[in-house]
Amino acid sequence: MSGMASFGSHPGASRGRRFPEPDAPTRSAFQRDRDRIIHSTAFRRLVYKTQVFLNHEGDLFRTRLTHSLEVAQLGRSIARTLGLNEDLVEAIALSHDLGHTPFGHAGQDALNASMRAARPAGAGDEDDWGFEHNLQSLRVVDELEERYPAFDGLNLTFETREGILKHCSRANAERLMKSDPSGVARRFVDGGSPSLEAQLCNLADEIAYNAHDIDDGVRSGLLTLDQMTDVPLFDQYRRQALAAHPTLGGRRLLFESIRLMLSEQVYDVIDTTRQRIQSAGVDSVDAVRSLRVPLVAFSPDMAGQSQQLKRFLFRNLYRHPQVMETTDRAARVVEQLFALYLARPEECPGIAEGRTVSAARAVADYIAGMTDRFAIREHQRLSGTTLFP
Ligand code: MG
Repeated sequence: MSGMASFGSHPGASRGRRFPEPDAPTRSAFQRDRDRIIHSTAFRRLVYKTQVFLNHEGDLFRTRLTHSLEVAQLGRSIARTLGLNEDLVEAIALSHDLGHTPFGHAGQDALNASMRAARPAGAGDEDDWGFEHNLQSLRVVDELEERYPAFDGLNLTFETREGILKHCSRANAERLMKSDPSGVARRFVDGGSPSLEAQLCNLADEIAYNAHDIDDGVRSGLLTLDQMTDVPLFDQYRRQALAAHPTLGGRRLLFESIRLMLSEQVYDVIDTTRQRIQSAGVDSVDAVRSLRVPLVAFSPDMAGQSQQLKRFLFRNLYRHPQVMETTDRAARVVEQLFALYLARPEECPGIAEGRTVSAARAVADYIAGMTDRFAIREHQRLSGTTLFP
């Protein structure tokens, strides 16, 4: 890729795949990763997985798929300006949420609680892991996709996998290091940072959901434009939009304010990151990895304002009684499904096919892969009751 900086991730210098494969004749290693992700089953499921609002609550709300596309768009646009590898950014952005359960965070928390409660005395190490969605995203691309004759998973490059494993508890990182010699979890034990492309996806994720959750929140009627004036980050762009277009109101005012906010955040990340790269003096991805702090960042002022917006969304949207009511039901669907499959293992394909993992892990993998609507249907079928009439 032309115009790439020395501190970017060059596909020719990739640390490689878990199972060696010859290079593709026309695509770089990271382009090939992206293509494998797009053709995966887990990627297609993202369209029916909840971001905040359940998939069946409305056709225009973000799903995990449209969220991932927005993260890829923001990430690529920043990557190009900074001289980073756009293809790697795209591959990480499109796969970063593959391990999410149905029903968003409520589903993940319920699955984690079920896994911990199900751990039998003297269980193997894998049962200690609980459920973490970042770890599950890695599991999807390393183990669970079944597309190739010679290996499980998609056999992605180290760099894409490094970006997918955004967070990981230290205990799980230590377990992963035992079973995976690639070193993808090492930084959670030894300290250090991932590539700039991975750092960028992390921040692009935050920029994307802050903006689209305002949009979806107002669309749902759970947030009002008026209420948003309490958030300084949003309100300054609302005023700016009104100053330029005094008669603007309603939906167009909302969109224009969000558009200005997104642009400013993107410019802020670009400026701040350029300065940080320069003062750190990094000239290679390994130099980036050896640092304890990320270089891709907001300015302190923008970081503070973004935190403020997050807190606002947490209090007023994610903890809105109407959202909570749905997420409580969703958590019960996941909890009950988990118990139902353990009681009737013949209903869980992973167990029925005799996969070499514990029954609890096979059930967790199966449930994590479900779309919202499939989970609801399975719950109805197996329990004879319905939590989503
Ligand atoms: Mg995300």
